[in-house]
Amino acid sequence: MIIVLLGPPGAGKGTQAQRIMDTKGLVQLSTGDMLRAAKKAGTEVGKKAKEFMDAGKLVTDEIVIGIIADRIEEDDCKQGFLLDGFPRTVAQAEALDELLKNKGLHVDVVIEMKVNDESLVDRIAGRYTCAECNQGYHDTNLKPQQADVCDSCGSTNFNRRSDDNRETVIERLATYHAQTAPLLPFYEQKGVLRTVDGMADIDDVTVQINDVLNQL
Ligand code: ADP
Ligand code: ADP
Ligand code: ZN
Repeated sequence: MIIVLLGPPGAGKGTQAQRIMDTKGLVQLSTGDMLRAAKKAGTEVGKKAKEFMDAGKLVTDEIVIGIIADRIEEDDCKQGFLLDGFPRTVAQAEALDELLKNKGLHVDVVIEMKVNDESLVDRIAGRYTCAECNQGYHDTNLKPQQADVCDSCGSTNFNRRSDDNRETVIERLATYHAQTAPLLPFYEQKGVLRTVDGMADIDDVTVQINDVLNQL
């Protein structure tokens, strides 16, 4: 199964992807995580992506399409995958269709996570992740059970993203509305778009997503 999670920054895509991965046994492909890894490793791609990411702008289609094209060839993608943060432009969506068509595959479902812009700024400002296993947390909405200890791996090291500040978030939201929102009618026309209420509690959103997936 090929699932796309679509929604603005902070909508809860990564949070829900981690859960779907666990229950459905699908691998999560997050272009944001891959680009951050490339940036950290100082690769050519990472160097090219850095200034766009820091400014809250999209990295070029060419770069992210190249990353995804390589990644979906790997063995762990054979049973399907969950795309988190890709595609983000119509050109990326068209390229994805083409890549999948060559393998006799297609996008099975696109889950739109709808959240008010006002809530997104607080979600992103309070976001942090485990430095060891990448488990996501939030200062008020989702704290580890034991303060400062990761529930998943016991690590006490956490990261905050340099682009998770209020100024960059405003830019990222504008980018979402201008460049990514056109994917909604694109996928609606294909009959694969389903919308969930991303304003609900984290567990409730998971229930809504599982309902969508169980109906396929
Ligand atoms: P995205 O991957 O869409 O950018 P995340 O999954 O990283 O978003 O979520 C952003 C922040 O909001 C995280 O700190 C997460 O813990 C929190 N969060 C996610 N879903 C919800 C929700 N339904 N209600 C409240 N906070 C949430
Ligand atoms: P969020 O969902 O919180 O906005 P991501 O981790 O998905 O953040 O992405 C972080 C940054 O990486 C984006 O602001 C953008 O610069 C870049 N990026 C990630 N995915 C893509 C993509 N599909 N196309 C272009 N740029 C991307
Ligand atoms: Zn951890």
